[in-house]
Amino acid sequence: MHGLMMNQPLLISSLIRHADTCHSDTEIVSRLTEGGIHRYTYRDAHRRSRQCARALLRLGATDGARVATLAWNNFRHFEIYFAASGIGAVCHTINPRLFPEQIAYIINHAGDHVVLFDLTFLKLVEALRPHCPGVRHWVALTDRAHMPAGAASCLCYEELVAAESDDYEWPDFDEETAASLCYTSGTTGNPKGVLFSHRSTLLHAFAINLPDVMGLSARDTALPVVPMFHVNAWGMPYAAAMAGAKLVLPGPGLDGASLCELYQAERVTFSAGVPTLWLNTLAHLREKGIRLPLPHRTIIGGAAASPALIHALESEQGIEVRHAWGMTETSPAGTVNTFKGKHAAMSAEERAAVHAKQGRILPGVELRITDDEDRELPRDGTAFGNLLVRGHWVCREYFKGEGGSILRPGGWFPTGDVATLDADGYMRIVDRTKDIIKSGGEWISSVDLENTALGHPAVGGAAVIGLPHERWGERPLLVVVRRPGQELTAEQMLDFLREKVAKWWLPDAVVFADAIPLTATGKIYKLKLRETYADYFAKNPGTSGHTGAG
Ligand code: ADP
Repeated sequence: MHGLMMNQPLLISSLIRHADTCHSDTEIVSRLTEGGIHRYTYRDAHRRSRQCARALLRLGATDGARVATLAWNNFRHFEIYFAASGIGAVCHTINPRLFPEQIAYIINHAGDHVVLFDLTFLKLVEALRPHCPGVRHWVALTDRAHMPAGAASCLCYEELVAAESDDYEWPDFDEETAASLCYTSGTTGNPKGVLFSHRSTLLHAFAINLPDVMGLSARDTALPVVPMFHVNAWGMPYAAAMAGAKLVLPGPGLDGASLCELYQAERVTFSAGVPTLWLNTLAHLREKGIRLPLPHRTIIGGAAASPALIHALESEQGIEVRHAWGMTETSPAGTVNTFKGKHAAMSAEERAAVHAKQGRILPGVELRITDDEDRELPRDGTAFGNLLVRGHWVCREYFKGEGGSILRPGGWFPTGDVATLDADGYMRIVDRTKDIIKSGGEWISSVDLENTALGHPAVGGAAVIGLPHERWGERPLLVVVRRPGQELTAEQMLDFLREKVAKWWLPDAVVFADAIPLTATGKIYKLKLRETYADYFAKNPGTSGHTGAG
C-alpha cells in the first residue's frame, strides 16, 4: 500500500523561492572581483536568478545544457547556481586552478554550451577559446563599465540580465534531473565528472543543516571559504538559502587579511574551508593580535585538520572546530565531527582523540571498511581498511560512463581512503591508499606523521611521502616548512618525533622547503613531492635505512 502524501519533486528552485518568501530582506554580501563590497538580499537574488534564467534560455541553454562557470564566490555565481539548475540545465563549476589543458579537456568533455567567467580569468579564457570550439557563448561576469578591451568578443552578464524581465515561473520536472556537474581534480588520469541531481542536492542540503553537521539557521552569518567551484562550496549556497542564513561570499580574497576583515565586519558565525586556508588565517590573526567575533563554528575538511590546528583555533580564538570528511563523489558531506553528550565526562586528552577523527557518519550515508579480499572489518576504532561509502548523495557512475562501472557488490563506492570506524560511528582517515607508506610489510600513516610534526611549535607545514627503499620497500621522508623566524634542524625534528611515534615510523630523512606544493583543491600534492624527491635516498645514502622497520 502506498502512503497518501503529496509527491512533490525535490527541486533546487524551491530553495531560492523559499528564501524569497521567508527571508526576503536577509543579506548576501559579496567581495567583488572588480573591487569593493556588494550587498543585496535573497529577494534580489531570486529576482535576478529569474532574469538570468531567461537570459540563459535566450542563449539556447535548453534542458540538460551545460552552463559552465569559472568564477569566485560572489552573488553572480550564486544567481547562476539557481538559474541554470532551475531551468533544467546543468551548472558546471570549473576549478580555475587546474592546468589550462585540463580545463579545456573538461569543457570539451562536459560539452559546455556557455561559459560565464569572472574577469580574473580573462587571460585563461583567451587561452582556452581556440581549444573549445563547442562553446557557443563566453560571458564576462561584470557590467559594461568594467568590460576590458580584451573581452570585446564576449557577452556582458549585467547586460544580459538587465535585458530580461523577472516574469518567470520555475518549471516542475523530475527530481532525478541533473542539476550540477563537478570534475574531480584528477591528480592521476583525466578528471572525471560527478553529476549531481536535484534530489541528491536537496537531500544533502537537508542533511548538512542538521545541528551536528553545519546546522545553519536564520541567525547565522555563513561564509563559505571553500570555493563554489569545489563541490558546490560543500552545498552551502543551497543550505544557506534553505535556512535563511545571511551569506558572505569572499570573492577572490582568500588571504588571511581579507577573510578576517569579512569575519569581523560581517560578524560571521559559520565558515567552512580546507586546513591550509585556516593555517594562513591563523598566522594573520597571530601576527596582528586579532580576536574574531564569537560565536564562530567552522567546518574544516577536504584534507586532514591536524590536532595542532584544531587546538589553536579553539584555545586562541574560541572557535568551535568541526572536522569533516567527504569527496566530490559524496556531494561532499560524509562525516562531520561533533561530540556526543557522553564525551563531556571525558578528560581533555580523551576528547582531543575523538576530536581529531574525521567525524560521525551522516544519516543518509553508510560507511564500511574492508580488507583486500572485500571482507568487512570490525568497527572497533583500531582495525583499518579500505573505506567504502553508499548513500542518497553518493555518485553511482561518472559522467559519460568514464571509468566504467565503479561500484563494488552491494552498491558500495570505493573511496580510495584507508580508515578506521568505531562503535560510536566515528571514522578516522589513516591515509589515502596511494599515499600510505608500506615499510617492511607494515603500514605507516603519512597523515599521522604529518599531524605529529605539525605539533612542533617551529613547524608551519609538513608533508610525508614514501620513497622507494632497497631493503624496506618504502621509507618515509618528511618535508618541513619552518614558521617564519623559527630555527629548526633535522635532528631536532627527529628528536621531537622520536618521543611520539614508533621507532620504525621515524622518517629516514627530514628536508626543509619554502612551501608545500598543493593541488587545485588545496591538498598536499604528494605526486609532485614524490617526483621532486624521487632519488633523494639514492643521492643521500647516509640518511637512508638507519632507522628501518622492525
Ligand atoms: P580530489 O580527490 O579530486 O582531490 P576531493 O575533494 O573529492 O578531490 O577529495 C576527496 C579526498 O580528500 C578524500 O577521499 C580524502 O582522501 C581527502 N579528505 C577529505 N577530507 C579529509 C579529511 N578531513 N581528512 C583527511 N582526508 C580528507
